[in-house]
Amino acid sequence: MSGRRSITILGATGSIGTSTLDLIEREPEAFEVVALTAQRDVAGLAAAARRTRARIAVIGDAALLADLRAALDGSGVQAAAGHDAIVDVAAERADWTMAAIVGAAGLKPVMAALQRGGTIALANKESLVSAGDLMTGAARQRGATLLPVDSEHNAVFQCFDHEDASRVRRVILTASGGPFRTWTRAEMASVTPEQAVKHPNWSMGAKISIDSATLMNKGLELIEAYHLFPVGVDRFDVIVHPQSVVHSMVEYIDGSVLAQLGTPDMRTPIAHTLAWPTRMKTPCAPLDLAAVGRLDFEAPDIDRFPALGLAKAALVAGGARPAVLNAANEVAVAAFLGKRVAFLDIAAIVADVLDRFDPPPPATLDDVFEIDAGARREAGRAMEALAA
Ligand code: NDP
Ligand code: MG
Repeated sequence: MSGRRSITILGATGSIGTSTLDLIEREPEAFEVVALTAQRDVAGLAAAARRTRARIAVIGDAALLADLRAALDGSGVQAAAGHDAIVDVAAERADWTMAAIVGAAGLKPVMAALQRGGTIALANKESLVSAGDLMTGAARQRGATLLPVDSEHNAVFQCFDHEDASRVRRVILTASGGPFRTWTRAEMASVTPEQAVKHPNWSMGAKISIDSATLMNKGLELIEAYHLFPVGVDRFDVIVHPQSVVHSMVEYIDGSVLAQLGTPDMRTPIAHTLAWPTRMKTPCAPLDLAAVGRLDFEAPDIDRFPALGLAKAALVAGGARPAVLNAANEVAVAAFLGKRVAFLDIAAIVADVLDRFDPPPPATLDDVFEIDAGARREAGRAMEALAA
């Protein structure tokens, strides 16, 4: 056997998945691919599996198995299909797993990976928002290492005192403010999905781009940070920083503030988790602060961006609230992308579901799935009420 590290990428065809592939394909002697997964993108999945000589490729949509088999014909790559098959490959041994499925759909696979152990690079924040305690509990129990890929959390991870968190006074997440940072609510009322997915600094999948435009993304990230960094709920702050150069900060009790900076390119935090605890080279452009010129900061405006306030409240309340918030948001964002609801309806739907649906805290993963399903049903009702 070579000394190569074995890698699985869950969500290999997405924005994070392809950035991860880009890095590992630059160093083929360092990595070997166990499994790649996607939901519907057979062509993208098959091409990546052929290039990396993956052992197995899994497509989530079971109806696409024959297409995947045809696309992999003669390659020697095994084909499988269905959500359970994704969970099965996530449970197979790999030194390093990228969890980059979007949404709560990633929860079962990421739990399977955590239970198997090894290193899990987590991009799929929705899973941690919905089932944070269960996930961090499983990681502890199985000795799995959970490394944050999300740029803010990766930045905090690099600045955080992992030996003694009581030395940390505040964790400060930066937010770009999204494409509508300076817009009024009246202006935001009629924005289209095309406008909303155009993020000023980052190129990302559709769902997280909409979350960035509503600032729900920053709210989900507050909850994500709470599960990753053991300081109290009251010690997380958000600051808007339109240039996305300072990726986040940790403030210490002596007044020192440590920050991680870089060009906005997800390959930097992904590479950090790939090489951790060492470092690896990336093709990312070096940070040219003279060209950036200035770094601006402003307080977030919860009146214009109520999603952030909803998420903060869900974090403080705990229990099932974050899972309800997340599921309602997933439904509302999908409806906005499908042009069935307006931009400002997203936060309104989430607020409505949180008002009407308050299940008890989850004790098991099945509880989380029940809460998630219940919140999705309620979000459907909220949308019917909007349409009426
Ligand atoms: P994309 O939409 O670009 O990619 C999502 C990936 O998940 C694709 O491979 C997709 O397959 C797969 N997928 C979609 N639905 C399902 C499903 N139901 N079951 C299994 N697989 C599915 O998303 P991103 O790469 O932008 O984001 C992935 C995760 O990373 C999200 O949780 C996001 O919040 C987080 N993240 C992303 C950042 C970014 O810069 N993009 C930054 C920080 C966090 P297919 O292509 O076949 O649809
Ligand atoms: Mg982020």
